[in-house]
Amino acid sequence: MKLFDRNRLSCRQVGKVLQQFLDGEIDHVTRERVADHLDDCRRCGLGADTYLQIKAALARSATEPTAEALERLRDFGERLAAGHDPGTAES
Ligand SMILES: [Zn+2]
Repeated sequence: MKLFDRNRLSCRQVGKVLQQFLDGEIDHVTRERVADHLDDCRRCGLGADTYLQIKAALARSATEPTAEALERLRDFGERLAAGHDPGTAES
């Protein structure tokens, strides 16, 4: 595992673009970097899965997202963007 590969995004960077990435609103270079990160990083991968599950559930039900689901998603992205580890303690 390479920590400081210049072509790799940090969790913080991924958090900032994760939603655009999952919505397909991102340039292809960044898209590939995010995809690489999600492959390597279980934490961010789980966040992406959560987001996709919410989207899929919305598509199926055609109802408004629950406040809880949106809050969970927003919280995850914000924690990553702020450099906080959403799962484990980080110094
Ligand atoms: Zn990550």
